[in-house]
Amino acid sequence: MIILRFPKNITKKELTRVLIRLKPVGEVHAINRERQDSVDVICDSDMDDDKLLKMSGAIAIIHSQEPYVLASRAYQNIGMDISLDGHWQRGAAPLIIGGPCSVEDRVQVLEIAHAVREAGADAFRGGAFKPRTSPYAFQGIGKKGYEYLAEVRAQTGLPVISEVMSAEQARIASEYVDVLQVGARNMQNVPLLNALGKLSKPVLLKRGFSATIEELLLSAEYILRNGNRQVFLCERGIRTFETETRFTFDINAVPTLMEKSHLPVLGDPSHATGKRNYVESISLAAIAAGADGLMIEVDTDPDSAISDGAQTVSVEAFARLVKKVKKVYALVKSMRRADDL
Ligand code: PEP
Ligand code: MN
Repeated sequence: MIILRFPKNITKKELTRVLIRLKPVGEVHAINRERQDSVDVICDSDMDDDKLLKMSGAIAIIHSQEPYVLASRAYQNIGMDISLDGHWQRGAAPLIIGGPCSVEDRVQVLEIAHAVREAGADAFRGGAFKPRTSPYAFQGIGKKGYEYLAEVRAQTGLPVISEVMSAEQARIASEYVDVLQVGARNMQNVPLLNALGKLSKPVLLKRGFSATIEELLLSAEYILRNGNRQVFLCERGIRTFETETRFTFDINAVPTLMEKSHLPVLGDPSHATGKRNYVESISLAAIAAGADGLMIEVDTDPDSAISDGAQTVSVEAFARLVKKVKKVYALVKSMRRADDL
């Protein structure tokens, strides 16, 4: 895949002429108008660069060796910053997202939110619509959950994150929450990805448990090509032959995603292990491998959680974990700096 770069002042008429000229030499897939300094046309062509430059009038050609372009470092090498309204600065500290698997009721969610903020969380999570494996399992409290999350933000100041499973849910959620989560089961829900690409809220895209790293990045590409540049990638464990743990945290995914993409990478040790006793170890491992942050299930009373209690840590355990994670993050950062000197 290649990107043909044109100056930002190219007129609509000129661009239309370029696109007509390009048609016979390859498939033109998208025009990215998001960049401030150029108009970029994504194209699939084998023609050599000199010829392509001459016939199109482009000022530069960028090659991506991967089947995705906008999610690649070839396109953007500088790490994407998603500041969450000033709550996080990528590279300065790990992003710690904590909260229950499900929003159960208003009192529960507000109580946990205040506690996780005290314990050092930067953002709060909670599922309102739950994509459960069984249709008989608790499906979440729905839209009311988004409303309670908006109240969490108002009371605690924490940005709030919740899952959406359809374009319609994404539209509703975007009125209440700060980050829209795509769950593992929906990583390849194309209409959802396209809809999220047209919204202006950051997206937290979880890796499907049978999806390759390349497939995760291609899913991110759907969001990016629709105009939304703010995507977090999240490794949440893949399915292997191992049955001791719920899934297997793919530690390889962390440095691989970091190398291939400029998008921030988060780890979810809760769903990856399914067991609260392992959450701290896998959190530290993810950070040591270079992850930008973590999403962890936390509850003031994990044993009474309606969903995913076995993998949910107590607020006290979460507070200890956050302190250790920050230490490992700082250590890894200083070692990397020393290597660069
Ligand atoms: C969740 O975050 O609660 C969740 C359902 O995760 P996943 O989509 O990774 O299973
Ligand atoms: Mn969960």
